[in-house]
Amino acid sequence: MRALSGYSAEELVRILAPLPPYKAREVFKWIARGVRDFEGMTNLGKQEREDLSRRFTLRSTGRDSALADRDGTVKLRVSLRDAAAEAVLLRDKEGRGTACISSQAGCPVGCAFCKTGSLGFLRNLEAGEMVEQVLHIREIGAEQGTEVSHLVVMGMGEPLLNLGELRRAAEIIMDPQGLGVSRRRITVSTSGICAGIRELADSGPHLRLAFSLTSAREELRNALVPIGRDNPLKQVKEALGYYQQTTGQRITLEAVLLGGLNTGAEEAAAMRDFARGLDAVVNLIPWNPVEGLRFRGRALREPSGAETEAFAGLLRQGGLAVTRRFRRGRGVSGACGQLGWTSGGPPR
Ligand code: SAH
Ligand code: SF4
Repeated sequence: MRALSGYSAEELVRILAPLPPYKAREVFKWIARGVRDFEGMTNLGKQEREDLSRRFTLRSTGRDSALADRDGTVKLRVSLRDAAAEAVLLRDKEGRGTACISSQAGCPVGCAFCKTGSLGFLRNLEAGEMVEQVLHIREIGAEQGTEVSHLVVMGMGEPLLNLGELRRAAEIIMDPQGLGVSRRRITVSTSGICAGIRELADSGPHLRLAFSLTSAREELRNALVPIGRDNPLKQVKEALGYYQQTTGQRITLEAVLLGGLNTGAEEAAAMRDFARGLDAVVNLIPWNPVEGLRFRGRALREPSGAETEAFAGLLRQGGLAVTRRFRRGRGVSGACGQLGWTSGGPPR
């Protein structure tokens, strides 16, 4: 049976016919408010509710196991019909909640430092599967008294390789009658797919964009982020410039810091060069350990605190704005780059 979570209000009007359009729009609102079954839609008639429940379900995913970290982060496994995806609730010091959701099951990019990348790629997630991750995370937030007001597409997968479904999900999530998360509160992180960046600029929605640069020295970057070979940094920079021009937004450059690998002075200089001409802030992410990942024959390691500080200092000296990402969720392997089914391939 078809699940309705992945359809916009206007699509529901069409799909739910002969239900009157205003009632189809009510169904849309109910789904966003988190009702679990048609029975809960109290402004529909009994007969209508029965008809609908024979034809449709509301959701296609389930809330599977959740792990809570001491720092307030919750990592949720969301069961899909054929696999699992992970979504994370992040809570900042002020108690504000952010949902981090996945866009694919696995990831085809295969970055050397990322657990998801080491799993291979299973499939793109559908719009409804992304919307439902937000619903699940909101529910967990509500249980904790955390309002989930922000969204980052930084879980498993490369969102710009699934742009069609991402766009559909974003429309539903941004609809004030739907989940009502404003465009400015949604950030999409990409490993640097030029065509996708340009398409997002041209066709919207103009979500906030973060680019996972990690190294601005092309040789090292291409070894770490294999998709770089098809998306040279010069072209990525042009695409980011185009996005910036089109949207008027500041862009985030994410840099995963790998101890002893990309934290030196040359790296900092290359990063400053890359950022020149862009309105950008660099977000440093000290590498979160993933067991078993090796690069060029050696185990990857976290940067020391001093190494991170020194690198930040070098960037700042060059006039760059630098922030550091909190290391949230590491106690439950729910931090950046630690997401993935635990072993032996996707469950079920
Ligand atoms: N595929 C997209 C979005 C998901 S990854 C992308 O790569 O941007 C989200 C972020 O986590 C990226 O910035 C990525 O570089 C970072 N990341 C991946 N593995 C990591 C790890 N082990 N430790 C810290 N950050 C990691
Ligand atoms: Fe995919 Fe992003 Fe992980 Fe790279 S860092 S493998 S692009 S999820």
